[in-house]
Amino acid sequence: MSQVLRVRWTIVPQTAPQPWRPCSRCGGARRFRTGGKARVNANGRRVDAWLIYRCTACDGTWNRPILERRPLRAIDPAFLGALVANDPELMRRLAFDVEALRRRGGRVELFDDVVVTRDMPSESVPAPTGLRLDRLLGNELRLSRSVVRRLESRGALVVSPPGSRLHRQVRDGMEVGIDLSSPDAAGIFPTDPDF
Ligand SMILES: [Zn+2]
Repeated sequence: MSQVLRVRWTIVPQTAPQPWRPCSRCGGARRFRTGGKARVNANGRRVDAWLIYRCTACDGTWNRPILERRPLRAIDPAFLGALVANDPELMRRLAFDVEALRRRGGRVELFDDVVVTRDMPSESVPAPTGLRLDRLLGNELRLSRSVVRRLESRGALVVSPPGSRLHRQVRDGMEVGIDLSSPDAAGIFPTDPDF
């Protein structure tokens, strides 16, 4: 029987990060979410574009700048075309660009709802998620989080790269090794590699 079982998980976050911003309509700091639509305005040879967000309390609008007074000739026509067409892939990429959101200041909330598929030949975590590693492992291996933590503390479960922590968020490139021959793992996992 092989001692090494490799299962690649693709983790696709479902809810885009939501920034907290002062709402000009209902007042106070509010969470904003995007419906995945952009607005583009060409003024002469300059282009502005925004991703539209709505206040989760009052539905007021926040236009998140994507392009600001950018010379038309400096913009990749394919990118501009995708913006104008609200291309779903581009909208998703912009919506999940948490670093760009953070540069606008204020808190950005991440969510932990994901769809997990196995053995897909693509990136494992293509966008940032708030999902904790111990919760992902618990859900997908059908174990309690305390069992996951016990396996790790006894060395039967190893997370890399070094410094990765079970209570931290799942990141692209993480690897989890489980020693199925260890006494702690025995009995928890089936011996056939179908899980
Ligand atoms: Zn509001």
